[in-house]
Amino acid sequence: GTWTSEKLHQSRAENPFMMTWVPGQARDNIPNMTHGEGVYLYDDEGNKYLDWTSQAVCANLGHSVPKSLVEAAAYQMTQLPFTYGGIGMTEVRTRMNQLMAEILPGNLRAAVFPSSGAEANEAGIMMARRFTGRQKIISWYRSYHGATAAAGAATGDFRRWYGSDNNPGFVKAFNPFPLFFNHGGNGATEEERVQSALNMLEEQILNEGPDNVASIMMESIVGAGGCLIMPTGYMQGIRAICDKYGILMHVDEVMVGFGRTGKLFGFQHYDGVMPDIVSAAKGISGAAIPLSMTACSEEIMTFFEDKPLGWGSTYQAHPVALATAYEAVKFLIQNDIVGHVQHLAPIFEANMQRLADQHPCIKQYRAIGLFGCFDVQDLTGAIPKLQHEPAHDAFHKYKQAYHEAGLVGLHRYPHVHCSPPLVITEDELLDGFDRL
Ligand code: PLP
Repeated sequence: GTWTSEKLHQSRAENPFMMTWVPGQARDNIPNMTHGEGVYLYDDEGNKYLDWTSQAVCANLGHSVPKSLVEAAAYQMTQLPFTYGGIGMTEVRTRMNQLMAEILPGNLRAAVFPSSGAEANEAGIMMARRFTGRQKIISWYRSYHGATAAAGAATGDFRRWYGSDNNPGFVKAFNPFPLFFNHGGNGATEEERVQSALNMLEEQILNEGPDNVASIMMESIVGAGGCLIMPTGYMQGIRAICDKYGILMHVDEVMVGFGRTGKLFGFQHYDGVMPDIVSAAKGISGAAIPLSMTACSEEIMTFFEDKPLGWGSTYQAHPVALATAYEAVKFLIQNDIVGHVQHLAPIFEANMQRLADQHPCIKQYRAIGLFGCFDVQDLTGAIPKLQHEPAHDAFHKYKQAYHEAGLVGLHRYPHVHCSPPLVITEDELLDGFDRL
């Protein structure tokens, strides 16, 4: 039969798997999109919405895919639609490898090209374990690394939903870095708090046994957990701890990689920090096609020359995905999208500040590049605890009003994410803040 809008809405109401950002969201009346143009999406009732979060912070080039991507995908489909990436190389993969070698900082090289961010993290976890011969992966409670078994086990935030609480080999750091951003604290300076957090981490590693720890895995700027930017010296301190104990530093760039924060990669905001393993996805193809990447240092690359990593999936290094993503990255570079983000960043932040000043429901915000997040507070001034408290009725009403104001995006109580497509113009950006 035909899927009418009514049927779709009904199926969402009946199917809790449709959308799980916020418990109860499946029951909200989400629009049924039919097409997109620039930073806008249109639903089957003719309504126009500004995409205020680039969907899941991935449609970075908006919804009019540049012609070069479409042509490259079509050409690749006619030339060589598919060969299995586990058997041999392709011309397009060689080209993509070269492009990545040119743009990845330091001696990082693309190793594998899975399809999703979670798989890129799976490969990174496997790589760290095989390279070091150790098992434990230390990650953060305030983190999101994907919904597969290992990436889900490394994930902190959603782990209760995944039921992946008791996975052996995954350890959560008890060092709660988000506390850095809760103003007040115990009066210690930022430098002192950073040092104390690093001391706690080192102590934890000593207790876990440094010889058992394969990698420290973290987002360079925490994304789904609320746009958390690491304080000065923190990432450098982690790098030093990794070097001291032979632990690999695995940085998850899935959400912020490829320009979101005004640098090509989020870790480039931290002077002198060079990860050993980097996973990326989303922005690598502007979400026009599923593709991700796990990159690693040349040393790790060399290690695997005579012993295959052993990670694989049928659609890894898919030629059509690579051809499309190759053009997406070229588009990013040729149009200096990172420069555009840097230009818009102060305007973006000034408008976040303006809304925070105007609205008592906003407790605080964080912003970097075109990546921002408001924390909403309840009437007592408390910030509800992420994931542990059901969304307030007012938040559901806000989401409805958000659609009525012509915005579409993801919501995760108590966060209001702001991450429009990187190709947004200044006028469109101001329009977005007015709608918000
Ligand atoms: N890592 C981070 C930082 C993410 O934000 C996400 C998705 O939002 C993932 C990994 C998982 O990516 P995917 O949903 O493509 O598996």
